[in-house]
Order: sequence, then C-alpha cells, then structure tokens
Amino acid sequence: MDLRAWADRAVAEISAWQREFGDAEPHPDAVVPEARFTAGFDELLGRLRETYPFHHPRYFGQLIKPPHPVAAAGYLAAMLLNPNNHALDGGPATTELEREAVDSLAGMLGIPGALGHLTGSGTVANLESLFVAREIHPGAAVAGSAEAHYTHARTCHLLGVPFVPIPADPAGRMDVAALERQLRARRIGTVVLTAGTTGLGALDPVPEVLELRRRHGFRIHVDAACGGFFALIADDAPDGVAAAPFRALAECDSVVVDPHKHGLQPYGCGAVLFADPSVRRFYRHESPWTYFTSDEPHLGEISLECSRPGAAAAALWLTFRLLPPTPDGLGRLLRASRRAALRWAELLERSPVLSAYQRPELDVLAVVPEAGSMSEIDRRTEAILRGGMADGSAYLAAMEVTAGDLHRRGHRPRADRDRARILRGALLKPEHEHWIGTCHAAVEELARRAAG
Ligand SMILES: *Cc1c(COP(=O)(O)O)cnc(C)c1O
Repeated sequence: MDLRAWADRAVAEISAWQREFGDAEPHPDAVVPEARFTAGFDELLGRLRETYPFHHPRYFGQLIKPPHPVAAAGYLAAMLLNPNNHALDGGPATTELEREAVDSLAGMLGIPGALGHLTGSGTVANLESLFVAREIHPGAAVAGSAEAHYTHARTCHLLGVPFVPIPADPAGRMDVAALERQLRARRIGTVVLTAGTTGLGALDPVPEVLELRRRHGFRIHVDAACGGFFALIADDAPDGVAAAPFRALAECDSVVVDPHKHGLQPYGCGAVLFADPSVRRFYRHESPWTYFTSDEPHLGEISLECSRPGAAAAALWLTFRLLPPTPDGLGRLLRASRRAALRWAELLERSPVLSAYQRPELDVLAVVPEAGSMSEIDRRTEAILRGGMADGSAYLAAMEVTAGDLHRRGHRPRADRDRARILRGALLKPEHEHWIGTCHAAVEELARRAAG
C-alpha cells in the first residue's frame, strides 16, 4: 500500500483533467515561491510532530487512529477538486458517491432504503435525529441513559426539548425498569439508545425498549456513532458481539454511525439514517442560490448543514469499494479488535495489579488499578497515564467513576472519596490483536511502579 504513489497519481490525474479546459495560469499574487513554501512547510511538519503516536498500537487511549491509506488517497483526489455535496451543482460526482456509500451503511445496519446522508460529525448527525424527533413529537421530552454521550443533553438544550436521564444498570446499559417508570410519569416522545457507549462500549437493550414502545408509543433513536460498524460481527460468535441489539436496529426510527471512528475515515465523517424517508419534509427549504442544475432532490435539502465535503464521500466510497462493509471485508478488522479486547480481559483476570472494570462488549475496556481506596486508585491511574506517556510504553485514556459504580461491579475500594479516575483503553486497531500482550505488559509494569 504505497500512499506516496497513490497521492502522486491523484495529483497527476486531477491536474491533467483540469488542463483539458485549457491553460489558466494562477494569478501571480497567488503563486508561492518554492523557497518560501519549503520554509513554511518545514515549520508545519515540525509543529505536527507535537502530538501523540495515534498510528501505533501502543496508543490505545482515545478513539483515534489515522485514516486507512485508501481513505486518504480517495479524500486527497476529491479534495483537489473540492466538490461541495450540498447540491448537485457543487458536487455532481461526489453526490452519487455519497448516495452509494450511505446505501452501504444502511445495508450494514439492516435498514435498507433508509433516507440518510453524511454529516460533519456524530454530534451533528444526532442533532438532526433529535430535530426530526422534536418536529414529530413537539413538546415531548427525550429520554437517554446516563451513559449516553454528553452531547445529547446539550443538543436537547439547544433544541428546547427537556432531556430525561435514565440510570444505567451495573453493566452500563440503560435500566429498562427505570425507563418504564419515566414513561408512565411523563410524556416522552423519543428514547435515545446507545449501541456502544463511548465510555464502556456497552450496548443498550434495544429489543427490550422496542417491547416498551409497543405499549407506550415513542420514537427510538439509536446512537451507534461508536458501535455501528460492529453490526458486521454481531453474530454471537466467540469473537463476535451480541446479535440482538443490532438485529433490532431494523425496527428503530433513526440511527447514527461515525465512519470516522471504526470506518477507517479521516475526521469529518458522521452519518444519519432515517427509516422513514418521508421525514425529509421537515428539512424542506428553498435555496436562492443553488439547485438549478437538476430537479432531483439534492442532499442539501435533507441536511441541516449547507456546505459539506464531497471528499469525505469519495474517501468513504473508495474504502467501501476495497474494504466493503461486510463480515468478510471490514468485519475482519473489527473481529481482530474484538479478539484483542477479549484477550486483554483474560490477561487482566490473572493480573495482580490490574483488573477489568467490567466485561467488554465491544473493543473498549475500562481498567482499575488494584488499590485499597478510591484516592489510591485515582493516584495510580494518574501515575500510569503520565508514566506511559513519558516513556512511550503505553498511551491510555482515563474515565471518572464513583465508589458506587465500582461496588456495583464487585470492586471494593474504601470510599475515602466519592470519585476516582480509572484507565480506559480502546483497541480499535486490528494490529492490537498481535500487540495486546505487549501493551498489557507495559501497563502492568507501569502499575507495579505506581504501587511503589
Ligand atoms: C463519538 C460519539 C459521539 C460524538 O460524535 P462526534 O463524531 O465526536 O461528534 C456521539 N455518540 C457516541 C456514542 C459517540 O461515541
């Protein structure tokens, strides 16, 4: 996979096509002399090194990794043309690519025929879902688990919709009994479920909530920003994930997935899908400037954002051409991550200095440094995080939990304070399958040092 050759090819082909329209010399004031370019570019390349090694398996902190070279090549080629997928006027070719890529996402999630489009992020995609939900149930509240992404409460605030937090059970999933009590107590128009929580990768009980919908009637929006691609391995196999929550997506009203998380894409690629294509009526608007090249619906007519990069669609389309969203395509990469997570859970079971906070459902693990008190857990977490970054042996993330959260999961630290940070690791690179032993050994060594 030679990204350098592919990038060369993209630049050559795109400029050859552009020259077919005849020479158009750039304005002299827009030309940057080679020597000045080199100086500025060198400075940038130096600045870019001031970051963490997201590409390396020893980095397993946040949900970040560089795009697949295929996605980078696709993005670069289209970006040189810079189409705008707001309207067919701005991106005739990339609008088609977006439709095809979104159809593939809909197929992957089991909602073929869904109306959808790419967005700048999962947050914007969720905003669109909750905007449509508000239009359908004006005045009603939105309920979401306490473990749902923090942006749901903020988005509800933005939309002027009350947000009702529902407690999570000891596995980090929405507590269905608590939801039912709220459904009896007040008017809830929409329930937000998370298929793969950001903190723990927990899968909310989608089938059970579908059951409740039969009795109470409400919309179901599933935030699968982080977990959606696991639909490819949702087969209850030993190295797969639970099938039921993903199978149930077919009956939900809207689903969000972030190709820039597990879909190998650069940032700027979320997606929203609506089971009922008629929700497009809530977006309808007139643009005085665009939509003159075609009477076909333009993607900008079903999107809250106006300009959107056609390059993001090109990158995702090319990725799906070469690594299709099927169990045998991208699914193989997710399975490798899943195996890494299960292997880590096994290693943690035998560790004298670390333990798994709970069983992983996807590829994210929370890890507790073994210690007698909340304050000591917090201190060791800090030492492990700092130590790993200082010597480059392991780059992890942290999350805050309460003494109650730990006790419910069978950890028994003295509650000398209510809150402590614990470690969090996301194994979203398939390479983690072969690296997890090394990564675990590094964290154990850091934990031993932290214990003194
Ligand atoms: C990451 C994430 C979001 C936010 O998506 P962005 O693309 O970062 O805006 C929302 N929900 C869940 C479950 C997430 O993991």
